Amino acid sequence: MFKIGCHLSSSKGFTAMCRDAVKIGANVFQFFTRNPRGSRAKPIDEGDINSFLRLAEENGIAPVLAHAPYTLNACSKDERTREFALETMADDMLRMEYTPNSLYNFHPGSHVGQGAERGIELISEILNKIIEPKQTTTILLETMAGKGTEVGKTFEELRAIIDRVELNDKIGVCLDTCHVHDGGYDIVNDLDGVLRHFDEVIGLDRLKAVHLNDSMNVCGAHKDRHEKIGKGHIGLEAFERMINHPSLKDLPFYLETPNELDGYAEEIALLKKLYRGDVR
Ligand code: FE
Ligand code: FE
Ligand code: ZN
Repeated sequence: MFKIGCHLSSSKGFTAMCRDAVKIGANVFQFFTRNPRGSRAKPIDEGDINSFLRLAEENGIAPVLAHAPYTLNACSKDERTREFALETMADDMLRMEYTPNSLYNFHPGSHVGQGAERGIELISEILNKIIEPKQTTTILLETMAGKGTEVGKTFEELRAIIDRVELNDKIGVCLDTCHVHDGGYDIVNDLDGVLRHFDEVIGLDRLKAVHLNDSMNVCGAHKDRHEKIGKGHIGLEAFERMINHPSLKDLPFYLETPNELDGYAEEIALLKKLYRGDVR
């Protein structure tokens, strides 16, 4: 079954997101746990959650992927900033249990000159503080483009974080196609080679989700500017290969392309046409 969806605005709550997903032909979706720039999350609305869970069940919408605010920096030089990342992620973990067995994606952070090694240490420290043995949420490290001092631009850096986390059965990876491409992995000409390398370094069993984005820039540019599917340097043929690749085809795919709902509906329809397998 092709699991395809996109990033949706969470401002109107879970039930509204689920309705939007159904409307655009999606069976998965991603949302920000709180305003991506702000700090405070809306109080949990149990009525909304319950009607969402019912609607999601009826329509086969799963798994939902929550995205942490991208302004968090778990490996900042500043202790107060790290503390804020810790508090926010710990709070998100509690909120996630209202929608059990979901995914929670975050950007590992930027080491701001301290070096990737130190960044990796600080990120894993925070993960060790927030992961509870009985949580049902899987936390995903997102592959990064390597803009500035971003940690997570290589599979080796992600592996190093995972290795330092004690309860790392709760950790997975979300592969962002724009980010890995910008990070220098040639998914256009050597998808097999990139996935083989991923498997050797991290293990494909850790790969739990894919962010499907084309890129405005060339491979290795370390830029991170998303483009519509087929309109950038990755191109439609590469997306056709990716969604049908034996190692990827059963994963949930989430579009984060520059689109409104109608644009997402078009991209979802296009990708469904290219998918060789069950489509619903
Ligand atoms: Fe992201
Ligand atoms: Fe992404
Ligand atoms: Zn991005």
